Amino acid sequence: MEDTKLQKMKELVEIINYHNYNYYSLDNPTISDAEWDKLYDELLALEKETGVVLENSPSKRVGGEILSSFKKYTHEVNLYSLEKCNTFERLREWVDSIKKQNQKTEFFVEYKYDGLTVSLTYENGILVSGATRGNGSVGEDVTAQVKTIRTVPLTIDYKGKVIVQGEAIMKLSELSKYNKTADEPLKNARNAAAGAVRNLDPKITASRNLDVIFYSINYIDNTEIKSQVEMYEFLKNNKFNVEKKWQLCSTYEEIENAINDIDNIKSSLDFLIDGVVIKVNDIAERKLFGYTAKFPKWAIAYKYAAEEMSTKLNGITWQVGRTGKMTPIAEIEPVELAGATIKRATLNNYNDILRKKIKLYDYVFVRRSNEVIPEILGVARETAESTPIQKIDTCPSCGSKLVEIGANLFCVNTYHCPEQIKDRITHYASRDAMNLVGLRDKTVAQLYEILHVSTVADLYNLTADDLSKLEGFKDKKITNLLDAIEKSKDVELSQFIYSLGIPNIGKKSAKLLAKEFKTYENFKNAKIEDINNIFTFGDVMSEAIVEYFENDNNLQIIQKLFDSGVKIKEYVQKSTQKLSSMTFVLTGTLPTLSREDATKIIEDNGGQVSSSVSKKTDFVLLGENPGSKLQKAQELGIKIIIEAELKKMVE
Ligand SMILES: [Zn+2]
Repeated sequence: MEDTKLQKMKELVEIINYHNYNYYSLDNPTISDAEWDKLYDELLALEKETGVVLENSPSKRVGGEILSSFKKYTHEVNLYSLEKCNTFERLREWVDSIKKQNQKTEFFVEYKYDGLTVSLTYENGILVSGATRGNGSVGEDVTAQVKTIRTVPLTIDYKGKVIVQGEAIMKLSELSKYNKTADEPLKNARNAAAGAVRNLDPKITASRNLDVIFYSINYIDNTEIKSQVEMYEFLKNNKFNVEKKWQLCSTYEEIENAINDIDNIKSSLDFLIDGVVIKVNDIAERKLFGYTAKFPKWAIAYKYAAEEMSTKLNGITWQVGRTGKMTPIAEIEPVELAGATIKRATLNNYNDILRKKIKLYDYVFVRRSNEVIPEILGVARETAESTPIQKIDTCPSCGSKLVEIGANLFCVNTYHCPEQIKDRITHYASRDAMNLVGLRDKTVAQLYEILHVSTVADLYNLTADDLSKLEGFKDKKITNLLDAIEKSKDVELSQFIYSLGIPNIGKKSAKLLAKEFKTYENFKNAKIEDINNIFTFGDVMSEAIVEYFENDNNLQIIQKLFDSGVKIKEYVQKSTQKLSSMTFVLTGTLPTLSREDATKIIEDNGGQVSSSVSKKTDFVLLGENPGSKLQKAQELGIKIIIEAELKKMVE
């Protein structure tokens, strides 16, 4: 064998063992799962190619070292791990290999939870022990810890002996609740759950509000369970927490569809999943397939593209927004996340950096999921160069001294700070504001730098001659922009309110304000009490509005807009207000309407759309593959309707 290959294997084993120890024994991950998988796959490939498996290779065992401070627990029945794949080619191969033996095989498709696997033993209906998975044959005794978890039954109806397996998870809603007040925020839900179960103080386990989702029976006496479906039924009947959504598939195509459907809704779940598990449903049939050295041949896990990675923090850029707020932007070593290359991620504010204990040149965890700005979750590991991040004291755009308000730093040089001026104009021009098509940040920068446009009112004095001085501006482009500016003179009240860029007033709030006050004059003269009448408004928003109109500079700019011919339409209640004062929550994929379309229909008819189910919800609009909102709605007894019913309601 070539020495270079052996050397490479030694290196890989060492690196993987290092990360394993941090991850499994210390609950302090120093690498993302996707990176780990890559190293591990590389090692497996070399082992296969050379036929050599080193004595300390992680492939010889599945799992990590046991902390000496925990009592070891030897599993009566080994907990197997699953073969993981991330391509449909491999999945099809696996399905074909099963089908070759039995055309009629049914497959059970369930979520692959991203938490900590636990095994619980019950005798005479009483929970007698709980253990972590460990390396599959020896884990840790966490009986005292799991007893504190609300979704672990202390007694069950079944009086025989039964060993069940589940995943300890921390719901995302619990994680965000915890992090709101925690001195040291938890990096992510998976580590939070693992850290809570593998904690020597059961009180800490209890305080994290974990859950266990059960999905397997590894041993049972006196009762025959014939299939995975029966397993779920048994678990459910004995009041174990089981997931209601699973599917039986009989063809490869059905499995692939299920995987794609789950991919679409996974970001709406209140817990992390990192893939889908596919098992042969029939237990007797499983026995025919048996096991490889490490895996059962009758099951496979399909893993989704990573949404979280660790990468190096190379720098911090402070960004000044239109309100003067400074946002630290992390410049990171580019990573692939959920199908896109990420180079920058937000750190919210300076306090956030301190709370997360992030230093320059650290490796940090970055997360990006659907439609969310990438964010830095916390430190993965320090490097030799790690240095504290300095708090800035002057504005990088205008050089004026910054002011600290709450958790944020502000540049208060509102009317002369170039970045603030440009950002306010960009906001004014944006689609949901005045919709000045063709006026985006690059053009705004030219307008400011070359034509000295410094307020939104200046836009209305621009001439074709002026615009021809800008780079890339020819006849058509000039006409289009001037047309868009002219067209914006006739504007809806809600759009105008949003375009002002008042702190904390987004487009949804702007709509509510327009509806409440009907005319610009009423809105401008509104008092804090009047604004607070609106259901979702509080003092912070109301004060921001009143302060905005107390500022002469703002009033002068608005007067100039009116002088240039801007006219604000009076808010008119649309004649069809069939859904007035009704609140809807959307869940799942609708058959024909997109989320945006459905929201528009509801709002155009006077209804409101909310993102979470509460007692105040009137209807839940149900689509395919709904999230946890459906369950919540059922618990609260809220009326559930489908798309066709919504259409009927507004006919
Ligand atoms: Zn500034």
